[in-house]
Amino acid sequence: MKSYRKELWFNVAKRRDYINITPLVEEALRESGIREGLCLVNAMHITAGVHINDDERGLINDFDKWLEHLAPHEPIGQYRHNATGEDNGDAHLKRTIMGREVVVAVTDGRLDFGPWEQIFYAEFDGNRRKRVLVKIIGE
Ligand code: ZN
Repeated sequence: MKSYRKELWFNVAKRRDYINITPLVEEALRESGIREGLCLVNAMHITAGVHINDDERGLINDFDKWLEHLAPHEPIGQYRHNATGEDNGDAHLKRTIMGREVVVAVTDGRLDFGPWEQIFYAEFDGNRRKRVLVKIIGE
């Protein structure tokens, strides 16, 4: 069995954003040379997530509005976590709702998606460098 590991780096220039990273994961898969197996993609930070959904601008706005309704960024004093001096209590909650990682089957050298599935990096506390891990195993 082969395995391949790659880190993708991001520095999102705003607090929240949703980036389609599918082309970057496909590039990692090509580099791996793996034809049959599994591909794990996970955020390496507890205020960012990885999820799969449609790359449709209205839906992305809907997700952001829904998350901000569930866990508004402000007032920051509403989160006990922020008593530590941080201001990202909401980002921890948003990340947990949207998920840490996804696993995609690799079939015949391709990511074996359902219709319209795309992989997103979701940033909830941006303006700093953060990593996503891609780990591919198979043969
Ligand atoms: Zn925090």
